[in-house]
Amino acid sequence: MNDLKALKELADVTEVAKNGVDYSPKIGAICPSCETPRTPVVGSLPWDGDCKIRYHKCKNPDCPFSVLGITIKSIQVDS
Ligand SMILES: [Zn+2]
Repeated sequence: MNDLKALKELADVTEVAKNGVDYSPKIGAICPSCETPRTPVVGSLPWDGDCKIRYHKCKNPDCPFSVLGITIKSIQVDS
């Protein structure tokens, strides 16, 4: 049943990536699947009030996000 467990974990981290991870000016956005920091930005929206949304792609060849081309959303809040 290891495959099912891995699939469940992938579904969970995909949900995290879809809902948005925290963006840090220092380490950028961390891939929720393989935890690589500074995932490359592939798109961003203009500041909306105190929030800025970016989209990232993980480039780790061993990461399912990279293999499947899953986009990671990040949210930066300027407080
Ligand atoms: Zn990754």
